[in-house]
Amino acid sequence: MSAPNELFRDSFGTITKDGKRNWVFAKKPHGKFYNGRTIVSIVYLIVFFALPWIKIHDEPLFLFNMFERKFILFGMIFWPQDFFVFALGMLTFIVFVVLFTVVFGRIFCGWVCPQTIFMEMVFRKIEYWIDGDAEKQKRLSAMPWNGEKILKRSGKFVAFFTMSFIIANYFLAYLIGMDDVMLYMKEGIAAHIATFIPLVIFTCTFFFVYWWFREQACLIVCPYGRLQGVMLDPNSIVVAYDYVRGEPRGRINKEEIDKKGDCIDCFDCVRVCPTGIDIRNGTQMECVNCTACIDACDAIMTKVHRDTGLIRYASENNIKKGEKLHMTVRTGAYIGVLVILLAVLTTLLATRRDIQATIMRAQGMLYQEQPGNKISNIYNIKLINKTRKDIPVQLRLEDEDELHGTIKMVGKDLHVPSESIGDGVFFVIIDKSELHHRKNKIEIGVYSGDRRIQVVKTNFVAPN
Ligand code: SF4
Ligand code: SF4
Repeated sequence: MSAPNELFRDSFGTITKDGKRNWVFAKKPHGKFYNGRTIVSIVYLIVFFALPWIKIHDEPLFLFNMFERKFILFGMIFWPQDFFVFALGMLTFIVFVVLFTVVFGRIFCGWVCPQTIFMEMVFRKIEYWIDGDAEKQKRLSAMPWNGEKILKRSGKFVAFFTMSFIIANYFLAYLIGMDDVMLYMKEGIAAHIATFIPLVIFTCTFFFVYWWFREQACLIVCPYGRLQGVMLDPNSIVVAYDYVRGEPRGRINKEEIDKKGDCIDCFDCVRVCPTGIDIRNGTQMECVNCTACIDACDAIMTKVHRDTGLIRYASENNIKKGEKLHMTVRTGAYIGVLVILLAVLTTLLATRRDIQATIMRAQGMLYQEQPGNKISNIYNIKLINKTRKDIPVQLRLEDEDELHGTIKMVGKDLHVPSESIGDGVFFVIIDKSELHHRKNKIEIGVYSGDRRIQVVKTNFVAPN
């Protein structure tokens, strides 16, 4: 969807020609979409602030501890060895986001992106509460530093910084766990200076983003926003101005009322836009689909007794040709890829083992002659215990119908502590009369009590 004059695409509405910031004073939106987004945000914020407190078997529900390379999703611990499951999960998520974007445009940005939720539904609301609506904010910004300005600016500073500090603490809780955050608070800054420094950095970053950087995060930094151009097509649903119905735009004038479109050129859709654009110019990279312009235009249309929906969720083909949403080849292909990825991911998760054993023959030693006409091979075993309990492990030779043998541990029995790696060395001893080949396939069962955890296939080397 595009306007005849495309010059607006050559620059950002929030940056002046000489490179200075063009501050956006967005008017407070009102309407059913804003109310809907407020409800979604409240649920979102409750979930965001509640999750770090929820535990399963004494471990957090979610943890993204990059420092110790420990990740927990829905109570399941993922180790670096599970990285391929994690990477596939991420890939599935990206395909889902792309598919969602192809069909529904930037609905994610407007409704659930953390940047939009915190900017529009937390910090912007605090700002409206302290500074007032857009006109009052403009006046406050232009006025010299007097008592009122100092009071309002310092109040806003304290509120924004406190909120940024709270968010930073929760952000840290997602990284290191709420228990550690609480412990650090109890024991004080001096005892945990290495954690306090990142906390200060997070707080200052959040403060900078919400106090000053704001919509620039979506316009300049966010890669998802910048990829819109390649993901959207004429069938994607986006927040769009119905130019067929709206043009030619113009003020209501009794003599010309039949010659004009429904847009009365009131600019209310522009006044509420947090990224400072005019949606009537067509789909633009800066539009975060926040729906504020839909609410603003619906209110105007109601006032002038015209149908609402001049700005609405619609596709280019819906506006131009009146087409309804339908499946395209591209959408079908994305759905196909997504289904395959989901199937693979589900299989990997279902077959993922809590205890993972790797058995390798010790290098450099082919076999050893043992008393009683027996042959032995020596093996190394490495066990990863991903569970939260200590596990004693026993090894047994499987396939005993074909090869009769025993397993003898070198040194202590295997006992792997929770969430750690254990290793050991053992012999497999088999009667010489049963060995008819130089290389014999054997299977070693890894047991914990009577429960067989895994069967590992390996070779047993015998004399020629
Ligand atoms: S154009 Fe409308 S939907 Fe897009 S960012 Fe502006 S107000 Fe929000
Ligand atoms: S709010 Fe609606 S009527 Fe007013 S300028 Fe925007 S599109 Fe036109």
